[in-house]
Amino acid sequence: MRLVLLGAPGSGKGTQAARLKTELGVPHISTGDMLRAAVAAGTPMGLKAKAVMDAGQLVSDDILLGMLEDRLTQDDAKAGFILDGYPRNLAQADALDHLLERIVQPLDAVVKLKVPSEVIIGRCEIRFKAEHRKDDDPEVVRKRLAIYAEQTAPVADFYAKRGKLQIVDGVGELDEVTARVKHALENESAAASG
Ligand code: AMP
Repeated sequence: MRLVLLGAPGSGKGTQAARLKTELGVPHISTGDMLRAAVAAGTPMGLKAKAVMDAGQLVSDDILLGMLEDRLTQDDAKAGFILDGYPRNLAQADALDHLLERIVQPLDAVVKLKVPSEVIIGRCEIRFKAEHRKDDDPEVVRKRLAIYAEQTAPVADFYAKRGKLQIVDGVGELDEVTARVKHALENESAAASG
């Protein structure tokens, strides 16, 4: 299963991907986690990315694409993957298309977790208190939501036009949301084989 999870920051992509990876038997690839690991390790790329991330802005497409290509061509991703946090703009969606075509790994499904902004803001406040991520500061969250609306929301339309997008209600108990995503994936594979 090659799956892209879309949704605003705080919509639960990471949480749901972590739950689904065991069931689907594929790695959870989060570009945000990869960048945070690079920041923590103090790599040159991490040093470059840190200020951009702390300000809630997007790291450059070039850095992301190189990082993603390295990760998607590792052995464990041959069985598939759950991509979380990428693509975040139309240029990245296009780049992902070309990359997957080149490595002959077409996407099976794109699922967007839909969560209202007021719920997102509340969740990020809770995460800010627990994890102290600078980009969960309420001020920065507002900026991230604006960037999401402007740059990332069109990515959902990009996949919708190809008949690939499934929209799932991301509000509710974790188990409930996981069941909804699984249901959407089952529908997708039934449609693909039927
Ligand atoms: P996330 O954990 O997915 O919310 O990502 C945290 C931060 O990492 C984002 O606010 C961006 O600064 C950066 N980031 C993660 N994925 C991407 C991406 N695909 N393109 C650009 N920046 C990204």
